Amino acid sequence: MFDYVIIGAGLSGSVIAERIANVLNQKVLIIEKRNHIGGNCYDYKDENNIIIHKYGPHLFHTDYKEVVDYLSNFTDWEIYHHRVLAFIDGKKVPIPFNLNTLYEVFPKTLAEKLERKLLGKYQYNSKVPILDLLKEEDQDLKFLANYIYEKVFKNYTAKQWGLKPEEIDPQVTARVPIYISRDNRYFTDKYQAVPKEGYTKIFERMLNHPNIKIMLNMDFKEVLSIDLESKKIYFMGQEFKGKLIFTGPIDELFEYKFGDLPYRSLDLKFERLNMEYFQEVATVNYPNDYDFTRITEFKHIHPTKSEKTTILKEYPKAYQPDRDIPYYPVFTRESQELYNRYKEDAEKFENLILVGRLAEYKYYDMDDIVERALEAFEKEVK
Ligand code: UDP
Repeated sequence: MFDYVIIGAGLSGSVIAERIANVLNQKVLIIEKRNHIGGNCYDYKDENNIIIHKYGPHLFHTDYKEVVDYLSNFTDWEIYHHRVLAFIDGKKVPIPFNLNTLYEVFPKTLAEKLERKLLGKYQYNSKVPILDLLKEEDQDLKFLANYIYEKVFKNYTAKQWGLKPEEIDPQVTARVPIYISRDNRYFTDKYQAVPKEGYTKIFERMLNHPNIKIMLNMDFKEVLSIDLESKKIYFMGQEFKGKLIFTGPIDELFEYKFGDLPYRSLDLKFERLNMEYFQEVATVNYPNDYDFTRITEFKHIHPTKSEKTTILKEYPKAYQPDRDIPYYPVFTRESQELYNRYKEDAEKFENLILVGRLAEYKYYDMDDIVERALEAFEKEVK
């Protein structure tokens, strides 16, 4: 019946389904465990008429023009530059830590001295990962690096990952570098915006095609199995000779034969408040206080006229398969090695294509996913 089966209706699965339907004019079946499309990008209007992101804040930012052009087929945009403050020693200061933050946390003369040292060492507008700044020999820069490590990174990372910053892949903390600039924005990409009517509408438009069939509320294991010896895929009891695009957790597909890949999960607690605004910007990080990592107020992302507001507190936790949502791959050398073993096995299946955060065990952002899905379509699916 189908030449293409896709597991997962998240961003990677939906982009590939849309391409198969529109470019190849072929039929494709998507099997989705949840009762909705859109994966973790799913958003909806809550009872305060505010668009909220059910699985945590999703901010679109990219330097890839082709990704913007592609997504613009399915949405108009509202320009939005994300701003984050961190609550440090009773004060909310700009994050990424930048030259403005220096003046917020230190007395003027000390801030001036540290600014001179930073500008003597680094180019204006450069970005320095905290783990690199910590290697500075200069006593003042060392003092600054230790301060930022202690106040911004150490406790946040302990909450978020259950690890020290140096125990996790350096790319993770480098996502939020020390920014040698006076730019208080969280991202500096060329394109920053939110879809005018939310993310879910993008998915509805992508998947609204007679060639695309979607089965919601369906665990892939109910209809699909793989034979590890013959390297064959079975769909509804019969050998499947089409292409399987798998976007779920790779360890689950292989029945955890090498062991569980570590993920971090989150408890997301929404609160609806009787006040116009709760905080100054969309997100306030709490590295050192409380058990949640951050509070996001969605009204700042999608401006809405309402006397009420909705906020979200994110409580990170260990992940347990079958109980929790695997939000983040925990990137360490061991987990990478474990992933590589699964990947090696997966490559032996001729008609299996792995795409996405869970299947490729990568900390992809939304724009990376779209880029990767378009590439997978061209190079592997077509
Ligand atoms: N991070 C931190 N303190 C902060 C912000 C970020 O220690 O105030 C570290 C933390 O390890 C986090 C990583 O930087 O997991 C990446 O942060 P980002 O905001 O990109 O995470 P995401 O939005 O993907 O959860």
